[in-house]
Amino acid sequence: MAQTAMSETYDFLFKFLVIGNAGTGKSCLLHQFIEKKFKDDSNHTIGVEFGSKIINVGGKYVKLQIWDTAGQERFRSVTRSYYRGAAGALLVYDITSRETYNALTNWLTDARMLASQNIVIILCGNKKDLDADREVTFLEASRFAQENELMFLETSALTGENVEEAFMQCAKKILNKIASGELDPERMGSGIQYGGAALRQLRSPRRTQAPSAQECGC
Ligand code: GDP
Ligand code: MG
Repeated sequence: MAQTAMSETYDFLFKFLVIGNAGTGKSCLLHQFIEKKFKDDSNHTIGVEFGSKIINVGGKYVKLQIWDTAGQERFRSVTRSYYRGAAGALLVYDITSRETYNALTNWLTDARMLASQNIVIILCGNKKDLDADREVTFLEASRFAQENELMFLETSALTGENVEEAFMQCAKKILNKIASGELDPERMGSGIQYGGAALRQLRSPRRTQAPSAQECGC
């Protein structure tokens, strides 16, 4: 399909971020989501910085534009421009590393301060496949998520378990917030844009409807 016609194929575009300590598997999660396979270390140096994919969420087509830190987090210097205007984020720790879990509060502070105030965040306890080396229990992480109003899933970029679900749940929550009026896509820095499909419906007499809050299982 021609590039110019692409925006016709989705209703919304959301800017997403993947944040968390180095080594937690952020690049692998992005790769697994886009390519549906595990990124082995042989292509480590390529450093995917960006990926996009159109998903169907309850009948709405949403284009996710996902930014990876591309190694910036190793120097604790993730820039403001990286955060600016993000609608959603995957906040990643490694279930086999308490150090990465302890760093979550700092990541959250930055995300809420530097991204959109209304950013929707899903906490991902990655490397679920390494259960024998676990240092962080499911229960304590779910409590942390609840206290900080985050959604939560344990994922594995290796097996692919819950990877698509993580992106999907976050997108679903954003759509619900648009439907309830809690999020205004037209506000500057919302991280949300209309695609051609939604614009066509907006111009027609019957206005577009995002899925109702009741349809959401998250
Ligand atoms: P990033 O620094 O957060 O982007 O982390 P990477 O995606 O580069 O992954 C860091 C290391 O963890 C690499 O050696 C990956 O192969 C490994 N890794 C990433 N995700 C998983 C996972 O779900 N399970 C296992 N067993 N290893 C993983
Ligand atoms: Mg990386």
